Amino acid sequence: MAEHSSIEWTDATWNPVRGCTKVSPGCKHCYAEVFAERFRGVPGHPYEQGFDLRLVPEKLGEPLKWQTPKMIFVNSMSDLFQEGIAEEYIEAVAKVMVKANWHTYQVLTKRSARMASLLRGRLSFAATAPHIWWGVSVEDRKYGLPRLADLQEVPATVRFLSVEPLLEGLGKLNLNGIHWVIVGGESGHGARPLKKEWVTEVRDQCEGANVPFFFKQWGGVRKKRAGRELDGQTYDGFPVRTSQPVSPLATAMRWAREIQQEYAGPQSELLPILV
Ligand code: SF4
Repeated sequence: MAEHSSIEWTDATWNPVRGCTKVSPGCKHCYAEVFAERFRGVPGHPYEQGFDLRLVPEKLGEPLKWQTPKMIFVNSMSDLFQEGIAEEYIEAVAKVMVKANWHTYQVLTKRSARMASLLRGRLSFAATAPHIWWGVSVEDRKYGLPRLADLQEVPATVRFLSVEPLLEGLGKLNLNGIHWVIVGGESGHGARPLKKEWVTEVRDQCEGANVPFFFKQWGGVRKKRAGRELDGQTYDGFPVRTSQPVSPLATAMRWAREIQQEYAGPQSELLPILV
């Protein structure tokens, strides 16, 4: 969607899918839904269909077009592993990530079981690529901790947790095989409160297990004022990033067209090549 992002833990967002459905308490105040619904019915707007699920194949090749290495949050406005998205399309997204390997990708889902199953099967060609980080949301114990267990089964090089919005104390965490943890409170109208002890409990366990810890924000109605300091310091931990040479634009665009055509078949002639 955007070559630049204001999200603290990424550089850019890429949305080859738009729209989603809610699956757990962390979705209650979904910022993507609020944003998308604002434009429902606006002719020609990317979110003319509000938050309804929609594939955007003309966006598939976008990272191949970007010639400066970036950290890219994949589907900030959706969830790549929701049931309504065909495996063929998810595979095309993964192929772009494998080809455009000068970027680092953060793929975050609440549909952890489907992600784990695909990474063991159809997406195994992308699973262990060190520049693709696979993550799950962990907002509470009931829904979040089973996702953590699913993620630990994934044959990935980098696995991460987005503990956001943190809704309760998570207790003792099994951080085996986890390489990064982000924590944050909810922000905006009606934001649910975040207790400091819930945050420090996660931070202390990350420190004990040598897992990089990133504290995104306290959140609340005035998130800027609340800031992101914890015990007088800012926590900006990240996993180690790999670095690969950028492919020439002509080659990268050829790959983009090939992946798009492979996915869309004869229909690909009808697609705008790239936006
Ligand atoms: S899974 Fe993510 S994008 Fe989908 S409704 Fe929930 S918070 Fe929003």
